[in-house]
Amino acid sequence: MTKVALVTGSSRGIGAATAALLARKGYAVCINYLEQREKAEALVAGLREEQCIAMCQQADVADRAQVNAMVRKIEDELGPVTLLVNNAGIARQQQFQDVKPETLQRIFAVNVGGCFHCSQAVIGPMLHAHSGCIINISSIWGSHGASCESVYSSTKHAIIGLTRSLAAEFAQSGIRVNCVAPGVIDTDMIQVLGPETLELLRGEMPFRRFGTPEEVAESVWHLAEADYITGQVLTVDGGFLF
Ligand code: NAP
Repeated sequence: MTKVALVTGSSRGIGAATAALLARKGYAVCINYLEQREKAEALVAGLREEQCIAMCQQADVADRAQVNAMVRKIEDELGPVTLLVNNAGIARQQQFQDVKPETLQRIFAVNVGGCFHCSQAVIGPMLHAHSGCIINISSIWGSHGASCESVYSSTKHAIIGLTRSLAAEFAQSGIRVNCVAPGVIDTDMIQVLGPETLELLRGEMPFRRFGTPEEVAESVWHLAEADYITGQVLTVDGGFLF
């Protein structure tokens, strides 16, 4: 059976590195994006030049209808999804007392709702095939508290709960569900911290550097290949928190 991977939020950052690695490892991949169509299309073009199989598809993972339409399109073009990487995520740094209900709703809709919609959209064919793999991208803030990131941290805790629950529910159906919890990774997401804070943070890293998207992608690949591992959280943080 063709190995088909959907990596949500893969126009840039961790998702892009993961989609590229999976494509080079032989998966037919779908690169999903929200706004950055040019980046998604450039990634697809580059992978095709390397003889990889790749397509891209716009969809807001918070929107169930858009997710279902994307998955049907993947099934038509590449075949049923055999590996889902729930990577799309958003963050907002804010003091707790300033969090507005719409911010709470949106971050949960993308980070947690997105995992639900995408997983539900691919689970039918996985159950039918009695095989499949889902990897959710949480964060170190999914098992530790994060000051001024109460909503983000709550969503990342929820993703770990979802991972363990789905692993328990689907193990007998041959479907593995795992989680990667990155530390501080050098992507657009952390640039909001500003150069000074980033420099201070870098000094706190045991390796004195941030992780790269490629290093997170390697851990996703490892879990995708690990046939006897399910329900686990793999932390990729260069020893920042343990
Ligand atoms: P990023 O550089 O900000 O990229 C975010 C990606 O998600 C982009 O491809 C973006 O698409 C897409 N996206 C955003 N909202 C979406 C939506 N509603 N529907 C579909 N796609 C959407 O983020 P990143 O740093 O690579 O983070 C990726 C994941 O790792 C996130 O879940 C994040 O929480 C987690 N993580 C990151 C770090 C870190 O330090 N960077 C640490 C721990 C965990 P467009 O390009 O079209 O906007």
